Amino acid sequence: MNTAFAPYPIGTPGVPWGDEERAEWLSQQPLQRSYESEVLSVIERLRPRFDAEQYGLLDYGPESYPLMAIRSRDWRDDLPVVLITGGVHGYETSGVHGALQFVDRHAADYAGRVNLLVVPCVSPWAYERIHRWNPNAVDPNRSFRHGSPAEESAALMRLVALVRDRVLMHIDLHETTDTDETEFRPALAARDGKPFEPAGIPDGFYLVDDSENPQPGFQQAVIKAVEQVTHIAPTDDSGELIGSPVVARGLIQYPLKQLGLCASITSAPYKTTTEVYPDSSRTTPEQCNAAQAAAVCAAIDYALARQ
Ligand SMILES: [Zn+2]
Repeated sequence: MNTAFAPYPIGTPGVPWGDEERAEWLSQQPLQRSYESEVLSVIERLRPRFDAEQYGLLDYGPESYPLMAIRSRDWRDDLPVVLITGGVHGYETSGVHGALQFVDRHAADYAGRVNLLVVPCVSPWAYERIHRWNPNAVDPNRSFRHGSPAEESAALMRLVALVRDRVLMHIDLHETTDTDETEFRPALAARDGKPFEPAGIPDGFYLVDDSENPQPGFQQAVIKAVEQVTHIAPTDDSGELIGSPVVARGLIQYPLKQLGLCASITSAPYKTTTEVYPDSSRTTPEQCNAAQAAAVCAAIDYALARQ
């Protein structure tokens, strides 16, 4: 274990958290920004052009959060569905605002060609706390499975169940941040009573493909488009990115279904997960949002050209 990393301040090293440690962690998560003023207000401004619907409600004690989806207004049952999800990890800001920016600036280009279903902020409690977990210290993005322990994940799965076999492409928008290494991965190790092993943070954008159904041509089309906006992560000295072998430039694979990841919730032939790196001195929040929107456009264009 790298001695530069002190033990996580909550719990006992080697012992998984119980209720007391979870409560202590929760007490240290202050409100840092507003879902209502930063996300719901943007959705309201899109209502003249798109349909917005509430698909669930998170009820966390005194606080509750409407879960919102945006749809093409000209929805037609004979067209394929494109699913765009952001904010599965609430702190990954460009996933949320990149999805909203795509709707605002690019969605009209696809009218009459696909039905767009956009869920910009799957985990709003975590958006407000700039955190990865929900208030039960559960990661929604390991929870997309039957009997999910995360209501954020269960609600999205219920929404998508109605169209899951008609989805042509699903893109799930994420970030990898420096705080993954300094806070969130140490917290995960502490929660589960495991040692924390640093894996490094890639300096740049990368994608995650499905190892069970890889689509390398599709992934490379997305990388090429994003490269016009922000830099692609170089492979590290071990031939890896964040501990996984690099299978093509800026591309790793996970078994999406086995890990309960969001990108596994449809039977879409084309699936990808973006990982924007916002902490580089070579990028800005605007470029990160634009990179997410560019990834969405390239992914739809590729899928539409080959259906
Ligand atoms: Zn994420």
